[in-house]
Amino acid sequence: MDYHALAQLLFPHLTASPEEILARYPARQLPEGARITRMAPSPTGFMHLGNLYGALVDERLAHQSGGVFYLRIEDTDKKREVAGGVATILDAFSAFGLPFDEGVSAQGETGIYGPYRQSLRAEIYQVFAKKLVLEGQAYPCFCTEDELAQMRATQEQRKENFGYYGKYALWRDRPLADIQAALAKGTPYVVRFRSQGSIERKVRHDDLVKGKMEVTENDQDVVILKSDGIPTYHFAHVIDDHLMGTTVVVRGEEWLATLPVHLQLFRALGWKPPKYAHTAQLMKIDEETGAKRKLSKRKDPELALSFYAQQGYPAPSVLEYLMTLLNSNFEEWRRANPDQPLDAFPFSTKKMSGSGALFDIDKLKDVSKNVISRMSADTVYTQAAAWAAVNDPPFHALLTRDPDYTRSILAIGRGGKKPRKDIALWTDIKPYLDFMFDELFLPDNTLPANVPAADAKSILSEFETQFDENDTPDAFFAKMKALAEQHGYAPETKLYKQSPEQYRGHVGDVSMVVRIAVTGRQNAPDLQSVMHILGAERVRARLRRAANAL
Ligand code: GLU
Repeated sequence: MDYHALAQLLFPHLTASPEEILARYPARQLPEGARITRMAPSPTGFMHLGNLYGALVDERLAHQSGGVFYLRIEDTDKKREVAGGVATILDAFSAFGLPFDEGVSAQGETGIYGPYRQSLRAEIYQVFAKKLVLEGQAYPCFCTEDELAQMRATQEQRKENFGYYGKYALWRDRPLADIQAALAKGTPYVVRFRSQGSIERKVRHDDLVKGKMEVTENDQDVVILKSDGIPTYHFAHVIDDHLMGTTVVVRGEEWLATLPVHLQLFRALGWKPPKYAHTAQLMKIDEETGAKRKLSKRKDPELALSFYAQQGYPAPSVLEYLMTLLNSNFEEWRRANPDQPLDAFPFSTKKMSGSGALFDIDKLKDVSKNVISRMSADTVYTQAAAWAAVNDPPFHALLTRDPDYTRSILAIGRGGKKPRKDIALWTDIKPYLDFMFDELFLPDNTLPANVPAADAKSILSEFETQFDENDTPDAFFAKMKALAEQHGYAPETKLYKQSPEQYRGHVGDVSMVVRIAVTGRQNAPDLQSVMHILGAERVRARLRRAANAL
């Protein structure tokens, strides 16, 4: 076969040589051990949690080692692409604050290893496909869909492996004249890689997540260029990750099945493959069956990244939770370092589990409560207001009417060793502090069972006359104790426990009556702080209102 003639027939338009292309991508000048990672999503308009899970691994590996984390858009499949798909990707990642150092961005491309959109790289792939054709490592295949379907039927009948290999590789050794004739007729064709592999042989692979393994060699002549001259994932991955200098490819474990193809292509091109980290699937416990299963786009809204912002999960909570799934020692580290930023955690692929990660939304909420409890009142204010601006404009108007007022409410119980953990989602803010806004104050005056309404009425009206918004906590409790005693309630819980028959209840019941009147509920943040923020006038009005309602 005259490979030179074949290459000219297939790629008459190409002028660049592989050497010229390679010269456009100089080796990166980076410190020893620096890792180059990338996120390579397709602009399908749907970003899922798995994308973020993988991106967090990429980002940590790169930035922890002084390397580079870049964004490449894999837009070779025009059928799956949607308008605005790239913007969806950029928005999702900027919402989670994962900074790309290079690649596609909202302002265009940055970096010298581009173009970073595969659709702009057609010529580059073709130059390397041509090189393989010249070396007899690739060839055109003119099989029609029908012929391939027929081949499959025969293989099924004969109980043989499916695919385009060995004796089924119909165009592998066709004479040049046949190819010329097919081209002359304008028959569409793909370019296939000529596999030297055998399913009798194994290749060793040492995965950063899955560990050491042996995978069966690939014997299929896979398509590297589709009939429109655009590469398949396999070919684009190998060319791009080589040229762009990726040192670690983090991707879903569904790609493990075709890893032998990728390793083969790297070898055929004379290049060293990158390291691979194949991440486990995100699983969940099915609510109905109780069985473990993959998260599904159809059944599980929480698979979509957009879900988290809509529901009001702060981005740092989601990242923190993903880290608990990614590294088995993270939670222990967090307990020892409650105030450190997430980036201070020494992330390692060695601590990643090779089997499925179990996603649990209740656990996410718990993690989120902790994350929010460590935020400053100002951060909570800013983020909750930003969320409400989009999702609850009337509440936003109230929250931001007097920012200092809202911030002072959010500051209650914050900052100490044991901060309050009432808020997991921004949607929790409204039920948590609605009682502080008269417009939203809908009191529930249900009293503790042992306190008759008449007692509550007189406790409230007496307290109203004594109330001083500037009381110290001690002075306030002294008043509660005195009121308790006057009404036949034990001034100390201890006393009540010793002889319950002597009392109608204890001081806790008395302060509960006050709490219910002021906050309209039994569960509320520190009453003293609440009363101080509400101010004397509003507290008195609420005490009167409750007394009248009883
Ligand atoms: N476009 C591929 C995907 O979204 C990229 C896989 C990879 O990272 O290599 O699954």
